Amino acid sequence: MLKNFLPDAHVESVFQIQPEKLKEKGIKGVITDLDNTLVAWNKADMTPELLQWFNQLRDAGISVMILSNNSKKRVRKFTGTSEVPYIFRALKPAGYGFRRAMHEMGLKKDDLIVVGDQIVTDIYGGNRLGMHTMLVVPIDRNDAPATKLNRMIERFLLSRMRRRGWMKWED
Ligand SMILES: [Mg+2]
Repeated sequence: MLKNFLPDAHVESVFQIQPEKLKEKGIKGVITDLDNTLVAWNKADMTPELLQWFNQLRDAGISVMILSNNSKKRVRKFTGTSEVPYIFRALKPAGYGFRRAMHEMGLKKDDLIVVGDQIVTDIYGGNRLGMHTMLVVPIDRNDAPATKLNRMIERFLLSRMRRRGWMKWED
């Protein structure tokens, strides 16, 4: 049960994710969260650095899909003219959005890594479907009000996982 919340890997920021490293692991697609993973939850726009990161992934032959629980308006405004595909109101951790992403990307669960800042939505959802998972440190310490309960649950789960020696990193 608790293992379902444990990410396969952990990074400070998405910019530490190197396309070549993903390819070595046989990963062909990245399903990424938006809020507090790519930009702060209250920041509307794509950044040049992110655009470059998306291009690096594409050049390496790795597909990307943004999978967000946020609204169409929010996600569409963020992606703008970048043509990065997205699924909004994904209802993570439910399987629906993850399966839809897998289907639209034409990939298998083993080919995919889920990247996100929340254990109870991104990591739990991806793990349950048998995808690879990577936890990112949230960009903003503050969250949308709706995320506060998730963070409380997350702190509890993290402390349990640390006590078992499953996690080697600090907050
Ligand atoms: Mg998030």
